[in-house]
Amino acid sequence: MISIFDVFGVILTVFLVIVLLLLLIAVLLIFYSAKTKKVVFPGFILFVLDFLYYPLKSLTEKIGFKKGYIDMISNDMRNFVNYKALSKIPFNERILLLPQCLRKIDCPATLNSLKGFECINCGKCGVGDLISFCNQNNISVFIIPGGSFVKKIIKLTRPKAIIGVGCHIELREGSLVLDYLKIPGRGISLDKDGCIETKVNYEKIKKALLIKED
Ligand code: SF4
Repeated sequence: MISIFDVFGVILTVFLVIVLLLLLIAVLLIFYSAKTKKVVFPGFILFVLDFLYYPLKSLTEKIGFKKGYIDMISNDMRNFVNYKALSKIPFNERILLLPQCLRKIDCPATLNSLKGFECINCGKCGVGDLISFCNQNNISVFIIPGGSFVKKIIKLTRPKAIIGVGCHIELREGSLVLDYLKIPGRGISLDKDGCIETKVNYEKIKKALLIKED
């Protein structure tokens, strides 16, 4: 007679085989995409990366991949998947979210409880110039003091698309919020993360802000 434990064992085995198969296919697709520079089935890769996020993150870090590797691939895939939707959104309905750590340590900007830090373009960091660029293109910019501010800004501005800058962890958290709200987004990773005076490629941000339909 078949016991409940036998049934449970079979279900567990089938589940594990399916998970391993999904993982294997996703890994092959990632390697193929990286080698050919042509992304194939990004939605599927993203699904597997999200589904197995924690085990994959810990496994890749244990076997020597650099920290945040899975977040980086997830971010690239999301950017790829969202590209078309983002390109259709008029500039004045997009917003740019910048982390406050991009500012200089002696930044004179003051914190507005609704809109984040208010840059006065003192010239000490690249944020002021970037804000001028956004103003010329009718894109609203917010320098946010932390992840919890994202929802506040979304509520305040009701954007149709968001371009966000941050470390891998912030980008992942932000992307989950955007997925939930069905807002197309684009994440740009910091080149040097940390808590103060972080670095980013400003040209990359400008390019992302101006993405439009061909
Ligand atoms: S340019 Fe703006 S953000 Fe940068 S240090 Fe000056 S006031 Fe702060």
